[in-house]
Amino acid sequence: MIEFDGVSLTYEGAQRPALAGIDLTIQDGESVAVVGPSGSGKTSFVRLLNALHLPTGGRVLVDGLDTADASNLWKVRRRVGLIFQNPDNQLVSTTVEREIAFGMENLGLPSAEISTRVEAALDRMGLGRFRDRAPHRLSGGEKQRVAIAAVLAMRPDYLALDEPTSLLDATGRHEVWRVLDELGRDSARTVVHVTQFPEEIALSSRVVVLAGGRVVFDGSPEQLFFPGAHLSEWGLARPPAMEIAGELRSAGYEVPAAPPTVRAIADALLAGNGGGRG
Ligand code: ADP
Ligand code: MG
Repeated sequence: MIEFDGVSLTYEGAQRPALAGIDLTIQDGESVAVVGPSGSGKTSFVRLLNALHLPTGGRVLVDGLDTADASNLWKVRRRVGLIFQNPDNQLVSTTVEREIAFGMENLGLPSAEISTRVEAALDRMGLGRFRDRAPHRLSGGEKQRVAIAAVLAMRPDYLALDEPTSLLDATGRHEVWRVLDELGRDSARTVVHVTQFPEEIALSSRVVVLAGGRVVFDGSPEQLFFPGAHLSEWGLARPPAMEIAGELRSAGYEVPAAPPTVRAIADALLAGNGGGRG
């Protein structure tokens, strides 16, 4: 469990706080999308999760550990894995294999354990054929998968991602989506995902919208997108699949509420269960 208790963050020399009055709890197993316009405090929020930033007011507690207590730093960092927007900022090694091992070496894990986990990570992320390649020579999507593999190999309890697909092309984005989709099905894992993509928001169990450093919405994707009064104000749009599902529902079709996938829509149409038209 991660708790924000009256958290504010004002950067040195800044006129106004980047975050203010944040009170929320992230329960184990939740998958939380954090969204909001540029400058609303999303990156500041995720950096508070693993003590890359410390609150200037209030407290952030990770499994009860106060992130501001210096003696908790490594315990907190070990629990919360962070993936950055730009994978280049995260990759430090000469080969993919070494990159995945790097964080575990820093944790002081035994080398046999590291080898086992490297193999598992390469396999799971479909990176086996890249093992001897230089990470900085890979495509954006491949780099981000390496970064995610390296963090997951350390087995953090919480995974926080700061717009991990925003700098990728469509192919890279879909590669990372496949990985995130798989992670999302693992209900043992808690994920905090900063994103602007409606499709990614729709896959989360909970959405937190930030605006001007404050939480202006905290609820399910369905509650966010319907009726969706403030969507454009928050720089958001309904995912197309959810839009179509809404239209079908008002025409009497039975479309399952979540997740609003193209598959669910196709099933509803094929079942022909709409308003006497079927
Ligand atoms: P987002 O990720 O939603 O775009 P950020 O958390 O990066 O928002 O930024 C929130 C606010 O804090 C913005 O006004 C931004 O200019 C400011 N800010 C972010 N990082 C720093 C920093 N290191 N020093 C000073 N101001 C910052
Ligand atoms: Mg940001």
